[in-house]
Amino acid sequence: MEVNYCSSCGGEMETRDVDGTPRRACTQCSFVHWGNYSIGVGALVVREDKVLLVRRAQEPGKGYWTNPGGYIEQLEPIEETIVREVAEESGIEAKVKGIVALRDQPRSVHNVYVAFEMDYVGGEPVPDDNEVDAAGFYTLEEMAAMNVAPFTTWLVDVALRGKSAGLAADRDPVVPLNGYGLFRA
Ligand SMILES: [Zn+2]
Repeated sequence: MEVNYCSSCGGEMETRDVDGTPRRACTQCSFVHWGNYSIGVGALVVREDKVLLVRRAQEPGKGYWTNPGGYIEQLEPIEETIVREVAEESGIEAKVKGIVALRDQPRSVHNVYVAFEMDYVGGEPVPDDNEVDAAGFYTLEEMAAMNVAPFTTWLVDVALRGKSAGLAADRDPVVPLNGYGLFRA
């Protein structure tokens, strides 16, 4: 699909060589259309060997149990997004420990999904009755009889059988790096 108008200034776009690759770029400002991307975030909240799951009430994936999550916002740190999504979808308060999995899905809208391991802080699972219609903490045995989405099954395995702590949030970097969310081995 060709991009005809600049999403930054509304100016006309042209195809031109940008560092050796033909790309759609604005004739009026410095905007370059690099591609179509989206970033999802997901939460793995474990309490007593049970994982927090919600049942999707909307497409895509209506009727499937998944871990809570959503898409990132333009100016919101992803750590805040996932805390907010967990609270909104399930009523659970949780805080980020680190990043334990990543899924890459190159397609017409190239999606990257970042999975956070989170510590349970408080609250009991209550669905928002909009995006999800059920929420709870479940054991692997209970999940075996539930309609759990395949990717969620993979993430639950990471949560319960992960072999490393993943990338930990770095709250005190060795050099000041303002405005970044930092996660490191
Ligand atoms: Zn422009």
